[in-house]
Amino acid sequence: MNRPERVYKDSELLQLSAIQHLLFCERQCALIHIEGLWEENYFTAQGRNLHKRVDQGGTRPGNDIRVEYGLMLRSYALGLYGKADAVEFVRKTANGGEIWTPRPVEYKRGRPKAETLDWDRVQLCAQAICLEEQLGTPVKYGFLFYGKTRRREKVPFDRKLRQKTADSAKRLHELIFSGITPPPSRSSKCSRCSMKDLCMPEIGVDLSVHDFINSALDSL
Ligand code: SF4
Repeated sequence: MNRPERVYKDSELLQLSAIQHLLFCERQCALIHIEGLWEENYFTAQGRNLHKRVDQGGTRPGNDIRVEYGLMLRSYALGLYGKADAVEFVRKTANGGEIWTPRPVEYKRGRPKAETLDWDRVQLCAQAICLEEQLGTPVKYGFLFYGKTRRREKVPFDRKLRQKTADSAKRLHELIFSGITPPPSRSSKCSRCSMKDLCMPEIGVDLSVHDFINSALDSL
């Protein structure tokens, strides 16, 4: 657990899930978290379905592994808050006593992603940093469960991933507090983007969606 560069206030905390939007596309992140827009598509509906169980919250008890669903998370070092799909607490015995070690588990639709497309891993690492800060215990790894493969990917929280997570959280704050939506940048990601119809990447409009609608209304 490194000493944070700065400590955020309660009023500055941002949604942890925004970090995956940021890494997918900064414009998508701004459309959702600055302009307050959201559009459901096939992929987001599938994701919502997958989260039904975890959204109910609660505890699944066990002798060696206890699972907490929907645990609230917060990190003043990252300036983020959110909810973990699931946190497994694994029982370990040491020196005659027992400790319960946490590891976050995040449910995703689709398949494991290439190393360069690491927004799922960064989101999970942000959850781990929250848990470390809240519980005062190191979290060395977690799991991503993918709906398509029905398998878990083990994600070690190494120095490189932690640095990328801290850098991404910092960039998220810069973007959101700038209040400026970046222009569209057309890429292969656009075909899978839930905000495609609102973003209009093929037009290349260098305006926020609100400004675009207002200028269209003005020209009537
Ligand atoms: S459609 Fe493309 S440019 Fe627009 S928000 Fe989505 S990914 Fe970004």
